[in-house]
Amino acid sequence: MTNISELASFLTHLHEKHRSNDEGEVATYIPELGKANPDHFGISMVTADGEEFSVGDVDQEFTIQSICKPLAFLMALEQHGRDKTLSHVGIEPSGDAFNSVELCPKVKRPFNPMVNAGAIATASLIKGVSAEAGVTAFVDCLSKAAGRPLRVDELVFASEASTGNRNRAIAYLLRNFDVIDEHVDHTLHQYFAQCSVLVNCRDLAAIGATLANVGENPQTHTEVFDAFCVRDALAAMFTCGMYDYAGEWAFRVGVPAKSGVAGGIMAVVNRQLGLAVYSPRLDERGNSVRGIKVCADLSDEFGLHAFDCTNFGSSLLRTL
Ligand code: GLN
Repeated sequence: MTNISELASFLTHLHEKHRSNDEGEVATYIPELGKANPDHFGISMVTADGEEFSVGDVDQEFTIQSICKPLAFLMALEQHGRDKTLSHVGIEPSGDAFNSVELCPKVKRPFNPMVNAGAIATASLIKGVSAEAGVTAFVDCLSKAAGRPLRVDELVFASEASTGNRNRAIAYLLRNFDVIDEHVDHTLHQYFAQCSVLVNCRDLAAIGATLANVGENPQTHTEVFDAFCVRDALAAMFTCGMYDYAGEWAFRVGVPAKSGVAGGIMAVVNRQLGLAVYSPRLDERGNSVRGIKVCADLSDEFGLHAFDCTNFGSSLLRTL
């Protein structure tokens, strides 16, 4: 049986083990992201009963980037229901890079909500009556899940908006096929702002724990998300959350997760915990190098894989 000090010391061990790994590169295609300190490294875990374990640079803020995508998808499901949401965005892995300018050729919809095309379609569904209203609603929702007030990093937002021509191309492709409405700039504003929300590792772990706890923040006991929509969002994270590494991630780590190009990864062990790693050096697919290693080690050590066969159905952490 795992006790709390064993878990805390294993996180410290993982931090020690991987901190000297300097493989990968900080993203620079959004110029503001290139200013990140590549050595920053934090790991946080929040259990579904609200206990937190953190090691390293866990208060360092960074932008959430693509980790906003499952949360925006969840909000779209809550606001529009499954049928309408899925008529704008599919639920199949694409096997392609996150920023591919493509739609599923059969149905002329984005493959899934975890790639940029799908996330822009989702942003269109949850944008508010005014540009600021939609962003405020999104930030308020994430703040409840994180358990503290969050905000948009205006410098990253401006950097994304001024260099995001590929995302503009995707948005116009979506407009051409009537996936999004005519307010293309408004949709892009919503998407760029969602990506630019500042979080730290502890926030991401708390958001993950809120998902693990079927929508209720386990530290503040606030109901944040609808439980059935959480299930749908976790399924999308499981199959598509790590882009063109999603299959191997499911194979090796085996939990729903989402990465972002600022270097965050948020993983969720259903009913058990949220896990967050921040380390800005990315591999060629845009996933944090140390983040992947930490999640894989933790999954192996504690039998977190969805199809784990070492703990005979009672993962060690469940006994916490
Ligand atoms: N804002 C980024 C983009 O649209 C998000 C991408 C990511 O985190 N993978 O390019």
